[in-house]
Amino acid sequence: MREIYLDYNATTPVDPGVVESMMPYLSEYFHNPSSLYTGSLRVRTNIESAREKVAALINSRPEEIIFTGGGSEADNMAIKGIAFSKADKGKHIITSSIEHHAVLHTCKFLEKMGYEVTYLPVDKYGFVDPDELKKSIRKDTILVSVMFANNEIGTIEPIKELAQIAHEHEVLFHTDAVQAVGKIPVDVEELEIDLLSMSAHKFYGPKGVGALYMRKGVKLTPLIHGGSQEKNRRAGTENVAGIIGMGKAAEIAIEEMQEEERKIKPLRDKLEEGILSRIPEVIVNGHPKKRLYNTLNVSIKFIEGESMLALLDAKGISASSGSACTSSSLEPSHVLLAIGIPHEIAHGSLRFSLGKYNTKEDIDTVLEVLPDIVERLRRLSPYWSHG
Ligand SMILES: *Cc1c(COP(=O)(O)O)cnc(C)c1O
Repeated sequence: MREIYLDYNATTPVDPGVVESMMPYLSEYFHNPSSLYTGSLRVRTNIESAREKVAALINSRPEEIIFTGGGSEADNMAIKGIAFSKADKGKHIITSSIEHHAVLHTCKFLEKMGYEVTYLPVDKYGFVDPDELKKSIRKDTILVSVMFANNEIGTIEPIKELAQIAHEHEVLFHTDAVQAVGKIPVDVEELEIDLLSMSAHKFYGPKGVGALYMRKGVKLTPLIHGGSQEKNRRAGTENVAGIIGMGKAAEIAIEEMQEEERKIKPLRDKLEEGILSRIPEVIVNGHPKKRLYNTLNVSIKFIEGESMLALLDAKGISASSGSACTSSSLEPSHVLLAIGIPHEIAHGSLRFSLGKYNTKEDIDTVLEVLPDIVERLRRLSPYWSHG
């Protein structure tokens, strides 16, 4: 059975061009980039060329890019790094209640260390209210961190407005842009962002590599001490093949982004319309328009997301019931609860996230299979009546 993969927000397959670009660095170009012979110089040069490509993807300067071990590390580095370096100015951080756990759990950790964190509420679409941010900023606020686009419902936040409010109060602005970078245009200059996290495996690159953009002049305390790699900002011998692959993925994204939106959005819209017309009692979560073009999150009332996932999986369809991290726990997604979805409805949620290898046939198959699955489960549900 062919797999129909609809979980691109959890991870993407690696683009064959990316695999090809990485191969030499797993064999003949194995040299340590910090050494002094010709082989090392070649590796070093190509790391810098990957840095230029990643920088170009977000319109930053190459020296503002620090390679990390992924999106989670970039989030940790931004938030803890600023918290530690600015502790004498203040210990107050502002974030939103719908962040990825890489941000939320980092903030919880800092709370245990004596920092104070404000978790901004969101409206029914998942938007942070800029006025709420304004009201929350204090004399001792050192960082505002609000995600660019939500991984579960796809809502795209008003980043420029939020960044400007932070700056009016001389506070740094960080955004977890892991779901945005490579999918939609992100311009750190235009949007006035100080720190930005990204991850290669969310845009057809390899896992275990990401980057933190840090505006020139911003200083933070490194998390990993050791050698002088990444200009003393992140020690450790570079993940060379991973970095080369991320550079190639960035180059492909710059080239293909527009084309991908043109191809993927109609498929997502077809899936959404198909589900709404075939299945009664369904809610679409997230903003109807200001949302990632690949993401569809639906709450299908009276049944459990996990049961639907198992039956979809039996038909070769891979989707998610929320975020990858929450799908093994019984608590419904904190994002759905934050946008005001009641517990029992949040439990019946499915996330379909599409990507460049999906076809119209994939969507047709889901629309063939899902209504039957829902009907079967609802027939067993004590809450469902055909009334
Ligand atoms: C996937 C994801 C992360 C974590 O990135 P990793 O590279 O898997 O550590 C962080 N934030 C968001 C919004 C994500 O979707």
